[in-house]
Amino acid sequence: MKTDAFENRIWLSAPTMHGDETKYVEEAIRTNWVSTEGENLVKIEELVRERLGCGYAVPLSCGTAALHLAVKLSGLKRGERVFCSDMTFAASANAVLYEGGIPVFIDCEYSTWNMDPIALERAFEAYPDTRLIICTDLYGTPARYYEIKRIAEKHGAVLIEDAAESMGARYGNRNAGTLGEYNVISFNGNKIITGSSGGMLLTDDGKASVKARKLSTQSREAAPWYQHSEVGYNYRMSNIIAGVVRGQLPYLDEHVRRKKEIYLRYAEGFKGLPITMNPYTEGEMEPNFWLSCILIDENAMAEQIRGETEGRYVTDSGKSCPDDIFDTLAQFNAQARPIWKPMHLQPLYRENSFVTAEHGWDQSEDKSVSADIFRRGLCLPSDIKMTSAQQDKIIRIVKSCFS
Ligand SMILES: *Cc1c(COP(=O)(O)O)cnc(C)c1O
Repeated sequence: MKTDAFENRIWLSAPTMHGDETKYVEEAIRTNWVSTEGENLVKIEELVRERLGCGYAVPLSCGTAALHLAVKLSGLKRGERVFCSDMTFAASANAVLYEGGIPVFIDCEYSTWNMDPIALERAFEAYPDTRLIICTDLYGTPARYYEIKRIAEKHGAVLIEDAAESMGARYGNRNAGTLGEYNVISFNGNKIITGSSGGMLLTDDGKASVKARKLSTQSREAAPWYQHSEVGYNYRMSNIIAGVVRGQLPYLDEHVRRKKEIYLRYAEGFKGLPITMNPYTEGEMEPNFWLSCILIDENAMAEQIRGETEGRYVTDSGKSCPDDIFDTLAQFNAQARPIWKPMHLQPLYRENSFVTAEHGWDQSEDKSVSADIFRRGLCLPSDIKMTSAQQDKIIRIVKSCFS
């Protein structure tokens, strides 16, 4: 694996270790506390509670497990609908399927790329009995929770915040990961900080946190023997993973600062090009800038045709498209990533309802915001170990695509 090409690669967002991780992992191994109990687990609960400002933090094997438990805690019953962000990673919506629920997808808005409150209102008009919303903070930018929470409260719905990508971001005077009743963060390898894997369920509801702990450890009842009254899961985080997380947590703010520098440098470097960066509403929120993304102006889009599993495009002078930029960056050993393909376009979810802010959603002519951002957008290398010289190279390559 240790080829030059691998060493010199400019990554989308790779783990960045600082050294303290080794200390905590070694300590766990030296003392034999390698299983699902130990000081690292206790410490990261405390550190996350303090940093994010939540009542309870339950360490789990991954963010997906946290999403699953959040859906269970919401009390969702089989056959009930759940309003989900359309523009997200599939794990957010899959958790609904695990519990036999029916995701209804809500289009995103141009101002944050997150769930559009107007579309959410329309969804409640169409399905007034819905009692659960799962809202993603895309690429580290919080959704507009002032509106979303107001709508949720009006309809008596529970809100789950999928903050897997937005740890370290802020919305109003609250931190991402504390905006819903149940909230999810992830320590997956490419997130803003990592445990190599892992995740957490965050909540202010003490009873719910006890329930989540029980569900995550196979739902053992209090009895001398293995007594079970309900289905359980093996979702607990290990004290080794917690050691890596413990070493990373003090560096969260430093990572956010570096991510923001990268975002601002791109924004500056792209001045004069027919592209904009992934937006946020200033004053209302402060993203963690996890991934820097671009959106190509419509009039600068070269023709790009995407089938189910492969695509084609024509290179056109003065114009480009995400797949062209992706391929050109790959030639220079730099890792970009297409925008998440929206859920309403996934074969798994194509039959599910999809609600946009505009009336008259028509599958034959997809005018949704999420489909448009998928078509014109791209995630750029955003790794915090990238040097200024490397980032300048990325900027030059992107420029060259439009020449
Ligand atoms: C990464 C991610 C998840 C899943 O987290 P894991 O820890 O990988 O299970 C869920 N939702 C979103 C939006 C993500 O980006």
